[in-house]
This record gives sequence, C-alpha cells and structure tokens, in this order.
Amino acid sequence: MISVEQALEKILACVDVLEEEERPILDCLGQVLAEDVYSSIDVPPLDNTAMDGYAVRSRDTRNASKESPRFLSVIGMVAAGSISECEVKPGTAVRIMTGAPIPKGADSVVRFEDTDEAQRQSSSDGIGILCEAEVGLNIRRAGEDITKGSIVLSKGVVIRPSEVGVLASLGLSKVMVIRRPVVAILATGDELVDINQPLPLGKIYNSNTYSVAALVLRYGGIPRILGIALDSEDSLVARLRQGLDADMLITTGGVSAGDYDVVKDILAKEGEIAFWTVRMKPGKPLAFGTIRGVSKTGIVKNVPHLGLPGNPVSSMVTFELFVRPAILKMMGKRNLAKPTIEAVIEDSVVNSDGRRILARAVVRERDGKYFARLTGPQGSGILTSMSLANGLVIIPEDKEGVEAGDVVQVMMLDWSKE
Ligand code: AMP
Ligand code: MG
Repeated sequence: MISVEQALEKILACVDVLEEEERPILDCLGQVLAEDVYSSIDVPPLDNTAMDGYAVRSRDTRNASKESPRFLSVIGMVAAGSISECEVKPGTAVRIMTGAPIPKGADSVVRFEDTDEAQRQSSSDGIGILCEAEVGLNIRRAGEDITKGSIVLSKGVVIRPSEVGVLASLGLSKVMVIRRPVVAILATGDELVDINQPLPLGKIYNSNTYSVAALVLRYGGIPRILGIALDSEDSLVARLRQGLDADMLITTGGVSAGDYDVVKDILAKEGEIAFWTVRMKPGKPLAFGTIRGVSKTGIVKNVPHLGLPGNPVSSMVTFELFVRPAILKMMGKRNLAKPTIEAVIEDSVVNSDGRRILARAVVRERDGKYFARLTGPQGSGILTSMSLANGLVIIPEDKEGVEAGDVVQVMMLDWSKE
C-alpha cells in the first residue's frame, strides 16, 4: 500500500499541461492565461470627472468659501459619453456628469455639494462655487488605470471575475488560455440505475457519476458522462472505449477485492496499472494507471485512468485528493494544494490500522480559532456526511488517534456554506 503523497506523485507524473486555445472571455473563468496581454489603449481614454459637478478653472475658485462664494457663468452641460464643445474661459464653468470628459480649459471639477446649485431654481444663469479647487480635483486622468502599451495581465494568471473585467476594459472579447481537460466518467456496478429511471428492488441510484461530474465542473474541467457499465469485462470495455479521446478517464466502483470488481483487471489488460490501494480511509481501494487510447486526430496516447472506489464518500474524497490536483495541473495552475488549516477537534477519533483518516467535519470559527466537529457516522456510504461537512480532518497514519481538544490539520472543502 502506498502513501497519499506517493500516489499523488505518480498521478501528477502522468499528466501534462494541456494546449492553448482562444476563448471568449466569459468562458475563461478559472482558466490560466496563456499569453501576456498588452493594452492598445489608455484606460480611461480621456481625462474625465469622478463626480457630478462643475468643470472649472481652479484659478477662478481662489478664496471661494461658503461665506464668500465665487460666481461663474454656466456655458454648457456635458454628460458621460459626449464631448463638450465649450471651452472653459475665465469666469465660466460647464456642468458635468460623472465619467464625462473634461472640457477644454477646465483643470478641476467642483462637486455639486460644494456649489450653491441646490439653492438655485436653475443653473442657467450662473453657479456659486463654495470651496477652493486645486488643479486636478475630482479628475480621473487618461491612462490612470491602464497606460497604452503596458502589460496588463501576465501569462500564467488565473482568470477571475476581475480579470474578465480588465480584459473587457481593453475591448478584448477573446483571449488565449490553457484549455479545460475533458474528463470521462464511467460508473460501474450491476446494482446501479440512472437517476431518470424507476428504482427496482435490489438496485440503487447512481450518485457517483453526478457527484464526480459536479466536482469536475467545480474545478474547471469538462465532464463527459459515459453512463453505467455492468460488472463484466465486455460491458466495461465497450463503455470505456467511448471515453478514450478524453484527457482523463474516471471510473467509480469495481476496484475492491470482490468477485465482480473488474476495473483493475481491465486496467491491467487495456493499459498499465501504476498502483492499487492507498494507505488512507476512506479511499483505500484506489486504482491508477493509463489506458491505451486514440485521440480524435488518430494519435495513439495513454489516457490517465483513475479507478475511484465505489462508495460515494470514498469517490468524492479521493477525487479531492487526487483528481483535483491532476485537473489543476492540466489547466496550467501552479498551486495544486487544497487550503489546510489548524483546528481544535471536538471529538475523539481512533486510528486502528495505520491509514490516514480523512474525517468529515464541520469547521467553525470562534474567538479567532477554528474548531472542528465530526459530522456524525463516518461510514463511506453515508453521502450526507459530505453534504454536512465543510472540511476533512486529517489523522496521520502514524497516529493512533486524537482526543477532543487536540489540534489537527483540516483540509477545507468549502470556506462557508454560501
Ligand atoms: P464497489 O467499489 O464497486 O465494490 O462499490 C462499493 C459500494 O459503493 C457498493 O455498496 C456500491 O453499491 C456502491 N456504489 C458503487 N458505485 C456507485 C455509484 N455509482 N453510486 C452510488 N453507489 C455506488
Ligand atoms: Mg461494484
């Protein structure tokens, strides 16, 4: 039995960063930028006002105050999106709305609140300025956000909503990113029925395909659902073949020591098995290897295949530990580790067989400290324990257990219940 670290190392050694592709910016959320992005424009393109108010010459406001306003005549109005044709000459002002370009001649903007506009019926005759405006007051300079010709986003950056916004501010509708991996998902088991079917006696619904597909989506991959294979070599091979042009193949079930557990036999026949069983709980019967496949363009390649255990909790936990980092690596990400925190455990856990335990827990913060409480029964068939949990408490393989009050490491699955 190999350790979690050894297993992860072997898996990551078999996956590579995928190719680049051009995508519409809104499709790129969570993807890694594959090019340096330069700006061909200044953002903002022109000096403009940060406030609604009056564009003035600062010299005209000298010594202005509430007690002794400076009166200017209003020669025009300009809203965002238009250019004022007026030139602000001594003794004049232009009424201006947020985002509008600064008219010629003006060097500052006095906001409405610092004028006597509210006391006037109309500003058509003139406006009283109630404060001194220094040069540049309330003006956003052309290029103050992004200067033309500068590098705005560097290759390797992960695209978040703010990067989507920055790209849009440059007028870019598409960008080069590392493509998302296609992950083929095959459930195995004679007992499985798909969710849109009635449930005959003795059968269970196939939940793994859906929890695994949801995880693939969450971490940026494209799930390809291959359905359910029976526990026979023929059925399994026939279904598996449909997934061989994917970047990764995931099966669930069929990897324990039972008579009908054919996945690892297939892995040995149709490819190469790298390991089977990992020193962890849940998730011990995890198989990994490569299957000989043919890409869409006819190239023969070895498709990494993770045979996740069938138990619903085990398949999700092993996904978080092994499939997630593999997906992130293929997407070109550098930080593959799930965030881990220290918490005080509120239950005791016994570790009787020297495996790494990953116990489902609810982590809460109290007085600046984290506390972890187990979700209840920890059977690997109790999928609701995953639904209740926001973290996995890690009990190392060389520890015989922990007592309530001990400090433990917790791998966070979510930071909050949103
Ligand atoms: P296996 O690894 O095939 O021996 O399966 C272990 C346990 O997980 C058995 O109780 C299976 O019925 C259950 N199981 C396997 N595959 C699925 C699935 N796709 N959805 C829900 N439960 C499953
Ligand atoms: Mg099975």
